[in-house]
Amino acid sequence: MLVVMQAHATEEQVCAVCKQIESFGYRPHAIPGAQRTAIGITGNQGEVEVGNLEEMPGVAELIRVTKPYKLVSRDLKQENTVIRFPATDAAIGGRTLAIIAGPCAIESREQAFAVAERVQRAGAQFFRGGAYKPRTSPYSFQGLGEAGLKILAEIRERFGMKIVTEAVDSESLELVERYADVVQIGARNMQNFSLLKRAGRSPKPVLLKRGMSATLEEFLMAAEYIMSEGNYSLVLCERGVRTFADHTRNTLDLSLVPAVQRLSHLPILVDPSHGTGKRNKVLPLSRASVAVGADGLLVEVHCDPDHALSDGAQSLYPEQFDSLMDEIRLAIEKDNSARPCRLYRGRALLDLSRPGAAQLSSRIPRIRLCDQRQE
Ligand code: PEP
Ligand code: MN
Repeated sequence: MLVVMQAHATEEQVCAVCKQIESFGYRPHAIPGAQRTAIGITGNQGEVEVGNLEEMPGVAELIRVTKPYKLVSRDLKQENTVIRFPATDAAIGGRTLAIIAGPCAIESREQAFAVAERVQRAGAQFFRGGAYKPRTSPYSFQGLGEAGLKILAEIRERFGMKIVTEAVDSESLELVERYADVVQIGARNMQNFSLLKRAGRSPKPVLLKRGMSATLEEFLMAAEYIMSEGNYSLVLCERGVRTFADHTRNTLDLSLVPAVQRLSHLPILVDPSHGTGKRNKVLPLSRASVAVGADGLLVEVHCDPDHALSDGAQSLYPEQFDSLMDEIRLAIEKDNSARPCRLYRGRALLDLSRPGAAQLSSRIPRIRLCDQRQE
């Protein structure tokens, strides 16, 4: 159930409705939007008892939500969610493309600083690197733990990038939220419901990766777990799913991006590194991710990938990351100006200065991302 408030409803009226919902034994989630505030109701097992809600001052209407997820859905909030970071212009969602780059794992201070220096110079606003690594083999490198988090915090101080790093259980989440700016929940934990609930009580934004065999609905339900605990700063990330295809590590499902954007207000990123597992596929799939309308990219970069302790085969050399950023910057900057812009397929595929190209481009999501999406 969703309570939609009138456009001019006051804060007191919103509060009164929330209190009333609490008195029924449910949990209210007031989400302000550009036009109106909507209040999601969770905590009900079956039908919501609405009592006198509809008659309360400031209430426009009650809407029954038929989908199993409510808080992540566009029914609750029509505008796209933008996650902002105090005292910086870094954001996830909205007009800018968020670029999160760094090594798979923090291996040492020297290794992490060397990568950070390069990705920051290339224009990344977010630095990634695992201090806790969920590995297929228990004998593989498991990460430096808190020592790795301390290195990440130093990198934020030194380079000004925001830190994104994974928590693998409640214990590590406690530490990750203390040191990092964004708490990552990995593919293997997408349905670890106790961890999702704990992340939902974190004061930090959460980046939730799609499980490797999760359907769209399962993915959105996992996000709903986090939001239902009160954390509305949530970012989704497609990272490839398991299929029979064996030419890549996973099959990057770019069709998820517009599917999520149709149903949910949450930002959706793409990780072409884990999504392909192969360095030479990361640039082409990054282009495709931007073209399909993703809100950003998560990319692994290493200065010496041949000796990386994890995921070397999919990690870009810094020079390759420079090229990726150059291409993307070119596409975005041209998009944001009224000048002719191009979509990329190796070389320019579509030159908007050509007659008729503008009409064609209006049907291409990436152009919509840059030109028409509201913040
Ligand atoms: C990662 O981003 O470091 C990672 C382990 O990814 P995933 O959870 O998608 O496998
Ligand atoms: Mn990795």
